[in-house]
Amino acid sequence: MNLVQLERRPIGAYPQVPLVALDSVWFQVAGTLCNLECTHCFISSSPTNRSFEMMTEAEVAAHLEEARGLGVRAYYFTGGEPFLNKAMVPILARTLAQGPACVLTNGIPITARLAGELSRLSAGSEYSLELRISIDGYDAQSNDPIRGEGSFEKILLGVGRLAEVGLNPVITVTEACEGVASRAGRLKFLEVLRALGLSQPRLKILPLLRMGAEEKRLRPYQAHETLAGVELDRAAIDKLECGHARMVTKKGVYVCPILIDHPGARLAATLTESLVPFGLSYSACYTCHAEGLSCAT
Ligand code: SF4
Repeated sequence: MNLVQLERRPIGAYPQVPLVALDSVWFQVAGTLCNLECTHCFISSSPTNRSFEMMTEAEVAAHLEEARGLGVRAYYFTGGEPFLNKAMVPILARTLAQGPACVLTNGIPITARLAGELSRLSAGSEYSLELRISIDGYDAQSNDPIRGEGSFEKILLGVGRLAEVGLNPVITVTEACEGVASRAGRLKFLEVLRALGLSQPRLKILPLLRMGAEEKRLRPYQAHETLAGVELDRAAIDKLECGHARMVTKKGVYVCPILIDHPGARLAATLTESLVPFGLSYSACYTCHAEGLSCAT
């Protein structure tokens, strides 16, 4: 990742980001519950992490209705692992009646039956249904130490099932995958995906957030990784998720999908009340700005 040049103001002042427009709403639909326990997960999701519980279909529906009134244009679903939520298919059906939907999944729960249901939902909507599948290596040797024993093969099965029903997921890889940020690394990854039957593979590479489990795997943030004193112009603000989105959870609305473990990032109980400026005083904000992290697809 190329680092942008940071222009600094006097130390102590953090840039304030206004909500420019509420383009996207994220749902932490599975809470922090996941079938995997990845060693780089920035919210330490796991089969036993109940910091955030799953959302019900009725809770999602209420926020969808509110979002419709606010002119939201796209919806994202994350966790934890969204497909652990038994109401995920009906939730997607509701969402696709009012806008495009994207699900961030590890791919393992995607059975042939679920792939078929997703394909039918996609075909029956005037809006797009995107699946984003996370992998962290070119093979089991590189992926499994991060995502868990046997996970590479299981993820590929999920990817293959989507390909069989004509869905072309976006494959998401973090920089925990050695070399993937280089051109040669990207080309190597695309080769792996073509071999899976994805003739036009789509790859999204994400920088690491040095918090949650990742803080223990490699390192926490260092003191210089802060936006204290940094000036952000409109172009820089436009690239930040918090300028255009909000994250709905069981515990209320947060500024973005990244900061849910920080009570200060909880803005309100409703989307309408959450449309306020936010000060970028968290180290993760440094990653968003300096490394160009974008949660959106
Ligand atoms: S972590 Fe990123 S998206 Fe969240 S408030 Fe900070 S800059 Fe914005």
